[in-house]
Amino acid sequence: MDRRRFLKVTAVTGTTAALSACGSPENQLVRFIPDDAITPGIAQWKPSICPLCAAGCGVKARVMDGDAEVLRQGTAGVVRAALVKKLEGDPDHAPSRGRLCVRGQAAVQVTYHPDRLVAPMKRIGERGAGQFAEITWDEAIATLAARIDAARAAGPSAIAYVGRPHPGRRALVVERFLAGIGAAGPNWYEPFDDDVLRRANAIAFGRHQLPTFDLEHARLVVNFGADILGTWNAPLAHGVAYGRMRRGAREGAMWVQVEPRVSQTGASADLWIAIRPGTEGAVALGVAHILMRDGHRAASAAPRAAATIDGWSRGLPDFSPEAVQRLSGLSPNRLAQLAHEFTTRTPAVAIVGGQALAHTNGFAQALAVNALNELLGAVGTPGGVHFTPMASPRPAARDLAEVIRAGTSAVLIVDGANPVHTLPPSRRSDAWLRSVPFIVSLGSFLDDTSSLADLLLPDHSFLESWVDADPESGALESARRSAGPAMRPLYDTRATGDVLLQVAAALAQPLDPPMPWASFEAVVQDSTLAPAPPPMAATTNSPAQWVPPSFDGAVEQFPLHFLPYASQAFGDGATAHLPWLQELPDPLTTAMWSTWVEVNPRTAEQHGIADGDIVAITSAHGTVEAPAVLSPGIGPNTVAMPAGQGHGTYTRFASGRGANPFTVLAPIADTATGVHAWAATRVRIARATAADGRLILFGGATRERPEHLRGRG
Ligand code: SF4
Repeated sequence: MDRRRFLKVTAVTGTTAALSACGSPENQLVRFIPDDAITPGIAQWKPSICPLCAAGCGVKARVMDGDAEVLRQGTAGVVRAALVKKLEGDPDHAPSRGRLCVRGQAAVQVTYHPDRLVAPMKRIGERGAGQFAEITWDEAIATLAARIDAARAAGPSAIAYVGRPHPGRRALVVERFLAGIGAAGPNWYEPFDDDVLRRANAIAFGRHQLPTFDLEHARLVVNFGADILGTWNAPLAHGVAYGRMRRGAREGAMWVQVEPRVSQTGASADLWIAIRPGTEGAVALGVAHILMRDGHRAASAAPRAAATIDGWSRGLPDFSPEAVQRLSGLSPNRLAQLAHEFTTRTPAVAIVGGQALAHTNGFAQALAVNALNELLGAVGTPGGVHFTPMASPRPAARDLAEVIRAGTSAVLIVDGANPVHTLPPSRRSDAWLRSVPFIVSLGSFLDDTSSLADLLLPDHSFLESWVDADPESGALESARRSAGPAMRPLYDTRATGDVLLQVAAALAQPLDPPMPWASFEAVVQDSTLAPAPPPMAATTNSPAQWVPPSFDGAVEQFPLHFLPYASQAFGDGATAHLPWLQELPDPLTTAMWSTWVEVNPRTAEQHGIADGDIVAITSAHGTVEAPAVLSPGIGPNTVAMPAGQGHGTYTRFASGRGANPFTVLAPIADTATGVHAWAATRVRIARATAADGRLILFGGATRERPEHLRGRG
């Protein structure tokens, strides 16, 4: 579009100005000439991709004409243009099959959010004071290029990148950009990291990738800890498959959930089994022991398991029902019942994920469940474990803690990640960030981390940009898709892929190797970038020994296991800025706009805690307070808190709201992979104060009691 033509103003007053003028002439909005030929009242549907989790679900955007407040060359105004009004699932995209989860429905609010960053800015006050001034894109790109030029000579660790994983070629541009300036590879950072499972899958199945489960054709699903219908992996795709599993000829299928707290998936299960946290692998190996002992399966049927699990070829003698009971608390009878279900309901599959892998033995837990699947013959077969063909499987993540420990970064590029909010303070991310000489943020909002930046380079929203995704999970066939912008950009933002290409062109010393593309659109449309999917091949490794998990915090001082979990609305907190999601009642508690801690009624009684009382949760690393929700769906030795709230800075809707469970976590890791063991912290609890209105429940109370029982205890 010709910007000069666009900026012809047609009317400076009248109804347009009334939209937000507030009576102040200097605040009046101007109406620009429409920039697009649109047909009033006729909707168009344009494809796009939901960006609100890494699943990469295809969506359809309903586009109609409307008035939008925009920013053009520093001037605010109103334009009549084609605007996205609504998102729906896309029936033509395999993972979503025409459905859309609640987060996906709310994704449209990203574009129209009132606190979106609308232009590039530089810091003008103290770091973290939130004082920024708008600059031109030319100045922004020249500033970043000069900083990178100055830092390059200091070696690969002088420039660091921390980003939320992207399911498409934006990740490729980032990797090529970093390689071209001689920097170390990107840190794809997520607090609820699944890298333990990717690494275990690489060992067991030759695929460094999250799995897809053919739930539709399974007769038995035993799920060790993954909230696969709520937030884990590709929840929408697996939710659709779950619905099909429960229908028609598959009506008799059974779902067993093994976990210490009832998740959304657990609430949909036929059988919920509570065990000690971090012992899911022992239960899986106990089932395998029974299947081999009783002659249902031979150890030799699972050669990869024999190579990865200590004692496999001898029938796992260390995992007799009695031994499993000592480790996990699961009775021999219940274990035998579980093994029986595996022999009678086929095809059967086991799932592991989420908190089950967030322990010091997470890698061994994943290998144990992988071995059980191999023994069941469930790998690559109907009703079993599959891997979505991908053009470019995700490389192993660099450990952010290593970057922090090294402390040698002169330039830090932050791309949608928020480590200040999600890394526990004990990992010293805040101090590290404050010590980095120059931070640039590529996100669309000011949050706990980007508010420390020196330069803000706001991205287009996904609806305004070229997008693509190569989903890692959720489909049995390749689900790569790309799409052009569904609407024109509202503000003076720029696609991050284009920004990196432009910075590369502005460097004094060219990229080596160079990037051949002129724009991010060219990257997305480059058909030479689609190699054949890698074959599924076994990888040998020395056998691993399953050992019980260890926890941070002496049990005498900190007797309770602390379980943070991804909230259905906010995930790890990245979507807490969207008001529709703040208003969304939690499916199990009906809580909204708040954080809570789930406590077993027996535990609550021991501590004199009533529903709604404010509880102090203390670990060896800090204290966080939240209102109590008494729940029989959690074991008496565990307390749980949803993540997502407790931001210092994250728009008007999420700043200063609720509490952050990450603040009390220990800096403890899986011993095999070094991935943060976020479920390995012990805490104690105490009643802090009486209920003070912090808990906001859609249902009015967590448990409604009949009128005639009121006041009777
Ligand atoms: S699962 Fe939901 S939030 Fe994630 S990409 Fe799909 S629609 Fe978006």
